[in-house]
Amino acid sequence: MAETTLTSFESAELSAFLGKKNSTALEKAFGYMTVGELLWHFPRRYVEVGELTPISELPFDEHVTVVAQVVNVSQRQMHSRRGFIFEVTVSDELSSGGQELKMTFFNGYQARTDLHIGTIAMFSGKVGWYQDHLQLSQPEYAILDEASQADPRPIPIYPASAKMPNKRIRDLMGLLLEHFTDQKLPEFLPRELLRTHHYPQRHQAFLDRHFPKEIKHAYVARQRFAFEEAFMLQLALGERGRQLGAQKAIARPPVPGRLADKFDAQLPFSLTEDQLVVGEQISKDLEQAHPMHRLLQGEVGSGKTVVALRAILQVIDAGGQAALLAPTEVLAAQHYASIKKMLGKLAEPGLFGEGEGTGVELLTGSAKSAHRREALLGIASGETGLIIGTHALLSDHVQFADLGLVVVDEQHRFGVEQRDALRSKAVDSVPHTLVMTATPIPRTVAMTVFGDLDTSTIKRLPAGRAPIHTHIVPMQLTGFRDRLFTRIVEEVEKGHQVYVVCPRISDTAAEQGVLLASYEDSSGQPMSVESMQEMLGGMPEFAGIRTEALHSQLDAADKQATMDSFARGEIDVLISTTVIEVGVDVHNATLMVIIDAERFGISQLHQLRGRVGRGGLPGTCLMTTWLDADHPSVGRLKTIESTIDGFELAEADLAERKEGNILGVQQSGSRSTLRELSIIKDRSLIEQARTDVGRLLADANWGSNYQGLLSAVGNWLDESTREFLNKN
Ligand code: ADP
Ligand code: MG
Repeated sequence: MAETTLTSFESAELSAFLGKKNSTALEKAFGYMTVGELLWHFPRRYVEVGELTPISELPFDEHVTVVAQVVNVSQRQMHSRRGFIFEVTVSDELSSGGQELKMTFFNGYQARTDLHIGTIAMFSGKVGWYQDHLQLSQPEYAILDEASQADPRPIPIYPASAKMPNKRIRDLMGLLLEHFTDQKLPEFLPRELLRTHHYPQRHQAFLDRHFPKEIKHAYVARQRFAFEEAFMLQLALGERGRQLGAQKAIARPPVPGRLADKFDAQLPFSLTEDQLVVGEQISKDLEQAHPMHRLLQGEVGSGKTVVALRAILQVIDAGGQAALLAPTEVLAAQHYASIKKMLGKLAEPGLFGEGEGTGVELLTGSAKSAHRREALLGIASGETGLIIGTHALLSDHVQFADLGLVVVDEQHRFGVEQRDALRSKAVDSVPHTLVMTATPIPRTVAMTVFGDLDTSTIKRLPAGRAPIHTHIVPMQLTGFRDRLFTRIVEEVEKGHQVYVVCPRISDTAAEQGVLLASYEDSSGQPMSVESMQEMLGGMPEFAGIRTEALHSQLDAADKQATMDSFARGEIDVLISTTVIEVGVDVHNATLMVIIDAERFGISQLHQLRGRVGRGGLPGTCLMTTWLDADHPSVGRLKTIESTIDGFELAEADLAERKEGNILGVQQSGSRSTLRELSIIKDRSLIEQARTDVGRLLADANWGSNYQGLLSAVGNWLDESTREFLNKN
C-alpha cells in the first residue's frame, strides 16, 4: 500500500542514500537520522541572482549566509605569532553607500587568490563583534558570478552551522532528491482539495520548496505544506472530537439555596459584568453530562479565583468534589488562606447540618504525615469538598470520593501530563476541567485556534484595581542605573515594599567575587540573587533597609517563613528568582525591579509585574537591561512596556516562539513540532482546513473513501504525539 511505502521512505535511514560520512555529519549537526527529517529541513529564504543580503539585518551571534560584493581587501602581519590576516570588506550595495561587513581569514592564501574588489560571493559564518564592527571570521565562501550565470535559479539558504554550511546542505539535499519519485513520496491529501487550492502534489512540492525554478513556486509549496499540517492536525483533532463526544461526565447543575448562593450573598463586592458572563458559561457547562474543557483567560488581578470558586461550589452543591491545582506550594498555601477567608463559615463542614458547609483542605508535598493522613481521609470520605494543592495531589495515595471538577490555576506552569494524571482520578467518568491563566501558553492558544478548547475571557479589571506602569531601564546609562537604586530607596521610605527579581540564584564559582563589587562589573553577566543581596547590603543608601532572599534552593519552610514575613511587612526588599511569579498577593508591594529582564519570557514578565499594584496602590515595574535599545530582545521588552493585555502578549509570545512545542514533548525522531504552519500567520489556512475536514467527516462514506488518508494521519502523527493530543 502506498502509505506504507511513504512511511518506509520517510523513515528510511539517511546513510542508505548519502553514505556513512555524510549521514554522520548531518546527525552531528542537526540530529537528523531519517530521510524525512532532512526533507523537512527547508530553506529559510532564497537568494535571487543579483540580489544581495541586507547586512544591517544580520542576527548577531548566529550562523548566517550573506551574498555580498567585495569592496576592499587588505593584509596585515600578526604581531604575536607568525602568519598574516587577510581582511575583506564586503558591501550589500553594488554602488557605494551600502552597509559593510568585515571578514578575516587567518593565513588566507586561498581567499587572497579568490577574492578581489568587485567579486560577488556567498559567505557563510558566524556573525561576531570585533572592536566596533560586525565581522565574520574564517567564513566559507562560494563565488557566485560564473555559477549564477549558468544557473539562474534562486539559491536556497538553509539553517546551517559552521560544520554543516549552506553549500554542503544544498549538495546533500540535491543528492537525496535524486532518489525522488512519485511512488516514493505519494500524495495523501484528497485530490479535489489540491485542485481547489491549486497546490502541487507532494513530491513536486518538496522539489519546489528546496530548489524552486522561481521563488513563487517555493511560496506555493510552503503554503501546501502548511496546509498539510493544518489539515492533518485538524483531522486528528476531528477524530478525537468524535471520541470525546462519547466521553461521559456527571452533570452538576446548580442547587438553589446551597453554598454557591450563600457565597454570592456574602461576597463583599459585586461581581463584574465579565465575571458574571463567564460564570454563566461555566455553570452551563457543568450542567452537561459530558466533560467541560474550558480555558478561563483574564489578566492578572481580573478576579479569576472568585469565578473558579463559584464553579467549585456549584459542583460541591451537586454532591461532587473539586480540586484546585496550583503550580507552587507558596501559591497553593496562599489560595488556601484566601479561599478559607472568602468562604468564612462556608468552609466549616457540617456546620449548618447536612450538606451545608464543606471541608477545605490544603495538601502539599511538605504536609506533616499526621495531618496528611487526616486530610486524605476527608478526601476519600467526601467530607472535604475542596482540595487545594500542588502536584502532590497527583500522588497515587490521593483517593477522591467523587471528583467532579479540576481547576488548574496558572495553567502555563503545568505540563499536560500532570493535569491528565489528576483527571484520571475520577472513577467512572471524566471530571470537568477549568484551566485559568493570564497568559495562555502557546499550545493553548493553538488549541483555541484549532477550535479544540472553549474559552472564556475576563476583559475588565474589577473597579479599584490600580494600573501598573512599566518602564525599561537601560543600564548602560549611568543616570538610569543610579536612579534605579534611589527609586527603590524612595519606595521603601514611603512605607512600601519592593520586589527585586534576578534571573538566577547564584554565580558560578569562576564569577564569584568578580561580580560583587559594583553593578558595572556585572555587565554582560546575569545578576544573581546572591550577588544582588550582597551588593545592596554594601550600598550606604541601603543601610537600615531590610532585605531578604527567596529562591527555590531554600527549603519549603524557609521559603514560607520569608514569604510570610514579607507579607507582614517585616521585609522591605525581597530579592528573589521567579519563585514569586504567580499568585503571590502582597498589597503593600508597589515596585518590582526585574534585573536583566531580557532573560525572561514574555509571559513570565507579564506574570511577574502582576505582583505589584494589587492593593489599590499603583504599581511600577522596572525592567533593567544592558542591551542596546535596538537589540531584538529589547523589542520584546518594549512589547511588555506597551500593553498589559495578556492576550496581545500571548500572541506576541507565540509569534516569537514559532509554535515549536505545541504538539507536545520533544521526542527524538518523532514529529513533535510544526514545521511550516504558523498559528498566528496562517490562521485563515487553519480555518480553511477546518472547513475541509468538517466536509470530509460529514461524508457518509468517509471511512471507506479515505482509508488511505486515515492511515496517513496515523503515520503523520507519531504514537506519542497522538497520545498527547488525546490527553488534553
Ligand atoms: P487573578 O485573576 O489574578 O487570579 P484574583 O482572583 O486573585 O485575580 O483577584 C484579585 C483581587 O481582586 C482579589 O483580591 C479579589 O478578591 C479581588 N476581586 C475579585 N473580583 C472582584 C470584584 N468584582 N470587585 C472587587 N474586587 C474583586
Ligand atoms: Mg490568580
